[in-house]
Amino acid sequence: MAHTHYPNIFTPLDLGHVSLPNRIMMGSMHTGLEERGDFNRIAEYFAERARGGVGLMVTGGMAPNEEGGVLPGAAGLFSPEDIANHRIVTDRVHEAGGRIAMQILHAGRYAYSPKCVAPSPVKSPISPFPPKELDPDGIEKQIADIATSAARAREAGYDGVEIMGSEGYFLNQFLVTHTNKREDEWGGAYENRMRLPVEVVARVREAVGPDFIIIYRLSMIDLVPNGSTWEEVVQLAKAVEAAGASIINTGIGWHEARVPTIATSVPRRAFADVTQRMMGEVSIPLITSNRINTPEVAEAVLAEGCADMVSMARPFLADAEFVGKAKAGRSAEIAPCIACNQACLDHTFEMKVSSCLVNPRACHETELRYEPAAEARKIAVVGAGPAGLSAALVAAERGHAVTLFDSAEMLGGQLNMAKRVPGKEEFFGLVDYFARMVEEQGVDLRLGTRVSAEDLEGFDEVIVATGVLPRDPRIPGQDGPNVVNYIDVLRGGAEVGQRVAIIGAGGIGFDVAEFLAHQGESPTEDLDLWRKEWGVTTPWTERAGLVPEGPMPEAPAREITLLQRKAQKLGKGLGKTTGWIHRASLKMKNVKMVGGVNYEEIGPQGLKISTGEGREDPRWLEVDTVVLCAGQVPERSLADALEAGGRSPHVIGGADVAAELDAKRAIDQGARLAARL
Ligand code: NAP
Ligand code: SF4
Repeated sequence: MAHTHYPNIFTPLDLGHVSLPNRIMMGSMHTGLEERGDFNRIAEYFAERARGGVGLMVTGGMAPNEEGGVLPGAAGLFSPEDIANHRIVTDRVHEAGGRIAMQILHAGRYAYSPKCVAPSPVKSPISPFPPKELDPDGIEKQIADIATSAARAREAGYDGVEIMGSEGYFLNQFLVTHTNKREDEWGGAYENRMRLPVEVVARVREAVGPDFIIIYRLSMIDLVPNGSTWEEVVQLAKAVEAAGASIINTGIGWHEARVPTIATSVPRRAFADVTQRMMGEVSIPLITSNRINTPEVAEAVLAEGCADMVSMARPFLADAEFVGKAKAGRSAEIAPCIACNQACLDHTFEMKVSSCLVNPRACHETELRYEPAAEARKIAVVGAGPAGLSAALVAAERGHAVTLFDSAEMLGGQLNMAKRVPGKEEFFGLVDYFARMVEEQGVDLRLGTRVSAEDLEGFDEVIVATGVLPRDPRIPGQDGPNVVNYIDVLRGGAEVGQRVAIIGAGGIGFDVAEFLAHQGESPTEDLDLWRKEWGVTTPWTERAGLVPEGPMPEAPAREITLLQRKAQKLGKGLGKTTGWIHRASLKMKNVKMVGGVNYEEIGPQGLKISTGEGREDPRWLEVDTVVLCAGQVPERSLADALEAGGRSPHVIGGADVAAELDAKRAIDQGARLAARL
């Protein structure tokens, strides 16, 4: 039996009126589709995942009313038309054999709106709008609106609702004194502060009847000063159960917390022991969450009794068939979510529709389709980096005969550099996945093979994905023995001295700084070390899981200065949801960040810089090694040679445009090209 690979995952979960086929839930994620009104597209997005075999899915957050919306115009079930539209989604999911719950999200003071409301008028650090304090009638209105929203979800065909009670949103804001300064029955003692969430669950249950799933997402570790104590968390869980919840899901950290909770540098299953501690305190099932991205990790978490069910959100963007492939014993063929946030959360913050770095079809199911090719052709792909791999795999999936060349002995291109950076270990899994799929799709892989234009004459189509070359920054003295580039460091293990200047603070400059600042085990691979680094502990040891002394990072391995010519904050171009983590992490390693410089020369004593357009204040930075990370330029020699010979190659990835290149753009471009050929 195939499912014996993961016996715990594939044990059904009995909820009384319904039995879920397995222990994996696709957690809630805002994708940006919610507000676009294309319900066919939303339906396909969820239906594809339902066909993939997941036990239960949860939608992105739906606002219960105008004031509770994350943004003005946030989606919700406000009219009969909304209900009919959501029916399109639930019907399609049910036809596909799935189940779906609607998340009800009241943002409270996190709403990016002048209409936002909260228990007390305490502005949040992540929204510019001070919230209006609710009076008792206003509170009653919020409860009634949430209950109405749940009743409408039932009418729209949902199998349940998830009440968002964590992450620092509205219900969470009542629980702690930092945001709830009320002196009436909704504030003061903890019994009063928890009245709102408990009342909400009771009223939702009243509104939906007994045979309907209510998931309550409960913040089990707030990670903010003055957050809930563990005793309070347990007390709330028991009260939520008594009020009628069917399942409790685990929320980790308020959005304003200064601790990363889902980024790729967070160790896998870093918070599963928090849910485990709750096991036995209530009798309804518990779901655990955060940084669980493979069937192996999910199975281990369940086998160890950390939870009754596992929630994964982003992994279902990366691969809609996650559960089905696990069940069939094909877990090596699951496209892994590398927790980069680049195409999902970062897009949400930029008001763009989500996608996925490793799966450009995510949320684009109706538009980007890999249909069988009308005519199978011989296709050469040159370059087995992200762009070339993506093109090769999609072309092969569509039935073309694909030969993939790379001069290196290993496929993966620049992914092989990324994986060596502490905190980016997930890239190992991505390279392994690509290797597995190249085999699976029957791509003819020719590693260690540098091809010329002549070698490619027998192919119907040539895709050039030859990548990039390091940009030459033309600094006097850069040929000295104390100068290396990022490739020497990340690939070649070049000797780097104790005092280092890094020229260029793009994605690679930051990566090199991280690589050189660490010694020994990566905190991502060692939970205790990671906790120390971020000042985190278990919530039963310290209130809200924060160590009073704060972060205690390991001493830096080197003295590092990171430089750029632009006179702006370093790391401005990094991902919206992860840039702050990279900056904080380097700050903890005492990395000096200097912008607005000119590079005058490099000598045996180090790097001479000056400041600003007037080249003022020339001075030597006394360093042992200078590392060049000055960006990249397209490697177009093969493309040029092909064009000179009258061919018309398809040029993708860094070979096409190197500026601001990342794996997301490379993979997307490769897939879209191959979908058309
Ligand atoms: P980049 O992001 O374009 O950064 C290049 C850096 O070099 C900039 O700091 C730039 O700053 C500097 N520079 C440009 N021309 C220069 C010159 N002539 N002399 C000296 N300095 C110069 O490129 P990258 O760091 O090579 O990274 C490549 C891409 O890989 C990134 O764009 C990124 O998308 C991707 N990547 C992403 C991540 C991630 O975490 N998401 C990590 C690694 C790589 P000034 O011009 O101000 O000096
Ligand atoms: Fe995961 Fe990155 Fe894809 Fe988001 S974009 S789902 S974090 S791999």
